[in-house]
Amino acid sequence: MRILLHYAGRAAGAWHDAFVRALPEAEIVPWTPQDASTFDYAIVYKPTAEQAAALARVKAVFNLGAGVDPFLAMPALPASVALVRLEDAGMAEQMVEYAIYAVLRVFRDFPRYADDQRARRWSPQRRADKSAFRVGVLGLGVLGQRVAATISGLGFPVLGWSRGARTIGDVTTLAGAEGLRALLPQCRVVIALLPHTPETDGLLNRATLSLLPQGAWLVNLARGALVVESDLLALLDEGRLGGAMLDVFVEEPLPRDHPFWHHPRIEITPHVSGLTLVEPAVAQVAAKIRALERGLAVTGVVDRERRY
Ligand code: NDP
Repeated sequence: MRILLHYAGRAAGAWHDAFVRALPEAEIVPWTPQDASTFDYAIVYKPTAEQAAALARVKAVFNLGAGVDPFLAMPALPASVALVRLEDAGMAEQMVEYAIYAVLRVFRDFPRYADDQRARRWSPQRRADKSAFRVGVLGLGVLGQRVAATISGLGFPVLGWSRGARTIGDVTTLAGAEGLRALLPQCRVVIALLPHTPETDGLLNRATLSLLPQGAWLVNLARGALVVESDLLALLDEGRLGGAMLDVFVEEPLPRDHPFWHHPRIEITPHVSGLTLVEPAVAQVAAKIRALERGLAVTGVVDRERRY
């Protein structure tokens, strides 16, 4: 079995070595401009359109990430080739950590106390009512489900939103455009964990974000393009929204002159909410390749119509 590995970056050697260890029966070949038709599988991370076009004959392409939006923007990858994404692989735990921090930070008023500290102001606030502090989770897939269930387990009422109907413990689940309109006005914090598709592009814009209650926070852990950044800025400047914690941006790295860098109500992290971890990712991909070789079906195959 021959497997083409495309991973450009500092960790390329670590990925290669880990795949060699996990699949000793396979020949793992680092990508060079070569004829990809002699390979059984390809494992890729952010390939170019030209590289995607070369993969027409492999049995499956494994994406070393959960989001496949850059891939689907390339018409070059033939629809006949199965595109398999990472499912959790250590990312859900990271998303949960980030989400807990964000929710508790807002619930316990830490941004206000940071302002107070800068002003040398001693101003204790009353305890907020947790039962009235609703948290929304947009996207109830592999990652969103874990986040929704964990925040709910902390005692917050959680509302979750997905395309189809979902049931998750005590989480109130809603679906479709009506569901989003019902969810947003209730949520003090809304956490985005949706894939970027034509349907979710710019979903969080002036009209939808204005449905949030006064002072609500947006936490975007998914893709920058879900948010119309100028609309978010305007709503923050108008005092409609309380703040935003953003891990992802329309353009990454965030350009040095972008207004988000120095906005007092925006907190930024550099696309680190759910990092791809070598060991769990390699174990997952290796197990799926072995299953496919035995003629078994695998999960995580991207639906090319839905685009996630
Ligand atoms: P999944 O495919 O498992 O889940 C996607 C969820 O979004 C599903 O619940 C799906 O609904 C819902 N959804 C999709 N389209 C719509 C729509 N139009 N309206 C309502 N709901 C919709 O993805 P993951 O949970 O694994 O990952 C989510 C996203 O997180 C990834 O696509 C990626 O962009 C991002 N991500 C970001 C990372 C980072 O470091 N910042 C790391 C990893 C992922 P349904 O259940 O009905 O199908």
